[in-house]
Amino acid sequence: MKRSQLALSALGILALALFPMAVGNPYYIHLLETIMIYAIVLFGLDIVVGYTGQVSLGHAGLFGIGAYTAGVLVLHLGAPLWVTLPAAIVVTAIFGALLALPALRVTGPYLAMVTLAFGTIIQILINEMTFLTEGPMGIKVEKPSLFGHQMDEQEFFWLVGVLLIASLVLVHRILRSQLGRAFEALRGSPVASDCMGVSVYRYKVYAFVISAGLAGLAGSLYAYSEQYISPNTYNFELTVMFLLAIIMGGRKTRVGAMLGAAIIVMLPKLLDDIELFRMVSVALAVLIIIGSVVLVARKKKTVGNVAIPVAVSVAFAGLSYVLTAMTDWRLSIFGLITLFVVYYLQDGIVGFVRATLNLQSYAQSDAETTRATAHVEKALQHQTAATAEEILVASGILMQFGGLKALNNVDLRIRRGTIHGLIGPNGSGKSTMMNVLTGIYVPTAGSIAFEDRSLVKRSSSEIALSGIARTFQNVQLFGEMTAMQNVLVGLHHTYASNLLDVALHTPRYRRERDQSASRAHALLQFVGLSDLAGEEARNLPYGKQRLLEIARALALNPQLLLLDEPAAGLTAPDIKELVSIIQKIRGEGITVILIEHHMDVVMSICDTVTVLDFGQKIAEGTPSVVQTDPKVVEAYLGGDAAALSAA
Ligand code: ADP
Ligand code: MG
Repeated sequence: MKRSQLALSALGILALALFPMAVGNPYYIHLLETIMIYAIVLFGLDIVVGYTGQVSLGHAGLFGIGAYTAGVLVLHLGAPLWVTLPAAIVVTAIFGALLALPALRVTGPYLAMVTLAFGTIIQILINEMTFLTEGPMGIKVEKPSLFGHQMDEQEFFWLVGVLLIASLVLVHRILRSQLGRAFEALRGSPVASDCMGVSVYRYKVYAFVISAGLAGLAGSLYAYSEQYISPNTYNFELTVMFLLAIIMGGRKTRVGAMLGAAIIVMLPKLLDDIELFRMVSVALAVLIIIGSVVLVARKKKTVGNVAIPVAVSVAFAGLSYVLTAMTDWRLSIFGLITLFVVYYLQDGIVGFVRATLNLQSYAQSDAETTRATAHVEKALQHQTAATAEEILVASGILMQFGGLKALNNVDLRIRRGTIHGLIGPNGSGKSTMMNVLTGIYVPTAGSIAFEDRSLVKRSSSEIALSGIARTFQNVQLFGEMTAMQNVLVGLHHTYASNLLDVALHTPRYRRERDQSASRAHALLQFVGLSDLAGEEARNLPYGKQRLLEIARALALNPQLLLLDEPAAGLTAPDIKELVSIIQKIRGEGITVILIEHHMDVVMSICDTVTVLDFGQKIAEGTPSVVQTDPKVVEAYLGGDAAALSAA
């Protein structure tokens, strides 16, 4: 952390500690306490929504489970705080794993529906299980005691404050670690995650479990804070509020989560008080005008872009003076605010402020990026193991999509240490072959042996970890992550650290973090992208994106590298660079399968070429032999015949 950040954090903590004494009014103390509790839920919800990109409308249900775990333990067993809080975390985390199950099968609106159903079922269960929960009657919960000392309001406020900070540090560390990168990678490209050995299945469950644990902690604190819990608190409205808070505050930021929590706690109060409402809407309009002026001046937005938000906020401020009473308008105003945020502040308030002040997102100042420069290891630490001549043998591969045989009884034998070309007209089944080899498709028939082990029916992430890396015909980078972070996802397999290591920054974690950082740096250097390490992948020029995909694939430390049309869309100089990189890769003893349309590239660097046409192998041999094969010329006639003869 920078010194200024450290000072700011210290100041924040001090302000929080002094708040109850300075304010004195229990109403405000309780208000801030609620904000802090909601912030803990939102830290967790942001992991699921902001990082992994899943929707959850089940978080009010999880919050309720946390509250009731504490409530029930207090009611029936008189359990102390040090039992109720951990129990709430564990029980809720288990329910989080349950909630993750639908997320493994469905996404988007379907997932929203399923998680909503989950929340509703939880509410019904709490209502019906009267023997445990007292049903609609609710449960009274006294403020807890700690070390035999009965806590008062102020002391409990401090406890919540301490736990908020602990959660903040924990979540922050998780999200900066290999775990956080795995979560983000899921959102960027699930297929690529799996093919980098980061199991989508496993990390979706992790994300929900961690998220639920935080909701459980917050729920149990809420029970003590309110001193009374009843089922109808944990309803649809609360779950939507949570989601709204993430959207308003801005996803992928802890400040945003805290801001979002403050908004959803304050907004209902604000809408009750016309004077306050007027003040805030004028302040907001002024802020938006200033922000828009700055954005236009910096040429980040045009006047047309900002006209509507400015007009709406001014109209809103005007409206607040026309209205005399708020009560009838509450819902409409709430709806308006929501619409406004969803349309115009898609990155939330924090995102808007960042854009206005031209601050870079956290990613670019990543500790990893700066720390790495020191020592550069050998980019490719390669083991030249096994002696058998063939690294991969696929035989009789049949891949059927309905009536279409995309691959029809294809044999492929890849010799160790060679560059093996795979060519053929469009739609001949080349990419399908790659998808079969990397476990994305399970072949209808046939066998694949890689290093004498069968690959059929093994998951993409298992195959990746066994030593096969790939790139994609349609680039599959993790767009919102930096080039550096993309490569670090490829290095995920080098981490043995678990959640505890990450939370405590143990020596093991720090060692792995530093090693992977310097390795990622070396790999970026290998493909000539060192200067762009801190750039978000989606902002890289197309040619560089393709090179980054190669660096990320190499991070897996593969025996076999599959490249699917790496030169497509590249300029001539870029292609030259690519060719020399592929040759260097072979030089390190890595076997390469290369799908390519640029015949000059294929003919100049491949040792063997296999030609596919309509899913069948029509020729195989050295480039010069294949090139003159009449069947190959025939297959390319009308299509790439010119390209073929030009080589
Ligand atoms: P290419 O050689 O150009 O890479 P592909 O392997 O992408 O060709 O495609 C081979 C054939 O298989 C095409 O006809 C394509 O439409 C079909 N195909 C590929 N994937 C699927 C799929 N998931 N479902 C149905 N058809 C597919
Ligand atoms: Mg293809």
